[in-house]
Amino acid sequence: MLTIPGLCWLCQMPLACAHWGICSRCTRALHTTPPCCPRCGLPSGNTHLPCGRCLLKPPVWDSLLFVTDYCPPLNQLVQRFKFNGTVALAPALARLLMLRVLEAKHQQRWCKPDCMVSVPLHSRRAWRRGFNQSDLLANYLSRWLQCDYFPKGVRRVRVAHTQHQLNARMRRNNLKGAFRVDFPVAGRHIIIVDDVVTTGSTVAEIARLLKKQGAATIQVWCLCRTL
Ligand SMILES: [Zn+2]
Ligand SMILES: [Zn+2]
Repeated sequence: MLTIPGLCWLCQMPLACAHWGICSRCTRALHTTPPCCPRCGLPSGNTHLPCGRCLLKPPVWDSLLFVTDYCPPLNQLVQRFKFNGTVALAPALARLLMLRVLEAKHQQRWCKPDCMVSVPLHSRRAWRRGFNQSDLLANYLSRWLQCDYFPKGVRRVRVAHTQHQLNARMRRNNLKGAFRVDFPVAGRHIIIVDDVVTTGSTVAEIARLLKKQGAATIQVWCLCRTL
């Protein structure tokens, strides 16, 4: 993959607009996700109403928006962004999410956000990586939407153990007390930005804290949702 400005990150063809980062053909090709539930983001027959799972046990957040499943080619760009430190990808990836947001707005599936927070890394990991990928995405999105962004609005106050091996209940316990909320929350419509949502336990824990402090609605926006 080349990193020459003016070429598409995916197909390396020249771009009509250099700052897009990903050409319109590749962007269209990404939109092949099956119909998904607007609340949990998992496959469902109806894209406008919550699925059976959500009716039985609704997630803490009110809606979830994502670009694609965690699969090629987007997962490769996300890995490159996150683990190889290719921060130049941030505006191109944020734009893909923004296109999804505009689509949801067009279909009247959104509520205008008052403010935005990003899922924090623990300071030690952020220091090692040199950046927080969700923070970079939120920076662009909040600027384009002209809504408040609180980069330190949610802080990680405790290192949680690696989540991979844990079941749902263990994950929840593992995350208890891991975050602290430090911005005006009551009555506000809040967006939580994350790069990848897998089980959703991290965003659920942050959403739970925000709801406890009186948030009006919570939307989760992410690049990939593991289906
Ligand atoms: Zn392309
Ligand atoms: Zn659902």
